[in-house]
Amino acid sequence: ANASLVIGNWKMNGNAALTRSMTDALRSAQQPTDSVKVVVCPPFTLLGELTRHCYYDNIAVGAQNVNANENGAHTGEVSIEMLKELGVEYVIIGHSERRAMYGDSNDVVAAKTAAATAAGLQAVLCVGEDKQQRDDDKTWHVVEQQLQAACEQLSAEQATKLVVAYEPIWAIGTGETATPAQAEQIHAQIRAWLTERFAAVGEKIEILYGGSVKADNAAELFAQQHIDGGLIGGASLKEDQFVAIVQAAR
Ligand code: 13P
Repeated sequence: ANASLVIGNWKMNGNAALTRSMTDALRSAQQPTDSVKVVVCPPFTLLGELTRHCYYDNIAVGAQNVNANENGAHTGEVSIEMLKELGVEYVIIGHSERRAMYGDSNDVVAAKTAAATAAGLQAVLCVGEDKQQRDDDKTWHVVEQQLQAACEQLSAEQATKLVVAYEPIWAIGTGETATPAQAEQIHAQIRAWLTERFAAVGEKIEILYGGSVKADNAAELFAQQHIDGGLIGGASLKEDQFVAIVQAAR
């Protein structure tokens, strides 16, 4: 309860029919006084379709990646202005799958975060440790380095466009969720770091938890003081699951 932001990351899944059924399901579950913002992040090819269904209320559209360059010879890439022209408001940056498989180093993540926030997109910066790093007690060290690298060039103004998602890699797609206490501990450290770095602006940055969030564990996670919402993978592809998670955030 008392969470403010729930983001669905479809990854490389979904189709046009799902953009319609998901927005219909979200809209029918919505309440007039809803304070929870919902963002759906489909693959690039479905962004236009989704924005056509999403012009109402508290539902926004996000991309899963973006290129930091303005335009030019970058075959296969998509720019910030291209996203904005479609009405996209959010972009996920530095997801662990992109860091592991598609070359999103800390430097690349920093460039994308800086460019997206400067252009007025909400950047959802993903951080998180793998199993080995957790076992070695390096969790905070890893997360802090990721934050440090991504935020180094950001002004306070840009930081107003930042969302941080803590996604422990061992909890992504595994069914093994971090316990609310495990997540809360890191979230509190992230909050302290952001406040130190960006003062009053840092206190307001939303910090999301991601990694096997389901309808039946969402409420407990969202009840934690420093968990402001969730970044949802698998469960964001199922209308009933995703709606239940949004409801758990209220
Ligand atoms: P799952 O919810 O499927 O574990 O995925 C989490 C995630 O990676 C969201 O970005």
